[in-house]
Amino acid sequence: DLTPSPYFYTDTRAIPVLPDRESFSNKGTFGHALLMAGSYGKIGAAVLASRSCLRGGVGLLTVQVPRCGYTIIQTSVPEAMCLTDEHETELTQPNDLSKYSAVGIGPGMGQAKASQQLLRQFIAQAQDIPCVIDADALNILSQERDLLEQLPAKTILTPHPKEFERLLGKPWKDDYEKLRLLQEFSTRYRIVVVLKGKHTVVASPDGEFHFNSTGNAGMATGGTGDVLTGVLTALLAQKLEPKEAAILGVYRHGEAGDRAAARRGMVALTAGDVVDGLRW
Ligand code: AMP
Ligand code: MG
Repeated sequence: DLTPSPYFYTDTRAIPVLPDRESFSNKGTFGHALLMAGSYGKIGAAVLASRSCLRGGVGLLTVQVPRCGYTIIQTSVPEAMCLTDEHETELTQPNDLSKYSAVGIGPGMGQAKASQQLLRQFIAQAQDIPCVIDADALNILSQERDLLEQLPAKTILTPHPKEFERLLGKPWKDDYEKLRLLQEFSTRYRIVVVLKGKHTVVASPDGEFHFNSTGNAGMATGGTGDVLTGVLTALLAQKLEPKEAAILGVYRHGEAGDRAAARRGMVALTAGDVVDGLRW
């Protein structure tokens, strides 16, 4: 048996953790997020994550991209500040993380040697900062396995099943074993793991599972995962605990996908439509 029992959650579980918009608040109230994303040919991942991070309610957003992404970010996401890496095509440059309330790293980042080194330095530096680690940053973790032991306390990992299999280093034989391995992984490394798919499951270090009730197969298209990373980074920047951020963010992201599917149909749905579908 799975102990404790898994939860299947709907709006009654997700919505109450919604951050308040108190009337005397200012942009400083809602945190300053940093996204480290993109490489040559994949700056779009940084654009999507940035747009969704802003739609997730963050006060300020800085995006670090390789030099080739500068004009793209500044023109397609004017609300964000762009921090340009010294490298033309890859993310390589560590920077001072102390002013950020949360960091999202990985979408479109690639797995260049210099980016692997960057992730190592990042994890050493980010010990006290809430983090979302996604996509190629997860693939790097799968190869540099000692880093798993050093993840910051407030970390959310967001693998899809293939990325999770790489993190485990082995496949599972059925869904039941998959959940057991997920629980083991989350409790062993004391981090929240969002295993994406139909009924995305949020596994937390207390051993709990929360299965999401929103989302649809129209979201099986490039970039929708990058949109989730932006939303989760925004919620961490607004000081939600990783488990609550994951439960709420996954719910809202799926709901945005459902809104997009209602409007355009599942076939026509793109990741940008999911960004447009976000509402709070
Ligand atoms: P990624 O593979 O990183 O781009 O992430 C894909 C996103 O789309 C995740 O948030 C998944 O939960 C969601 N998604 C993909 N396929 C489905 C599906 N069949 N039903 C619901 N959500 C899905
Ligand atoms: Mg992805």
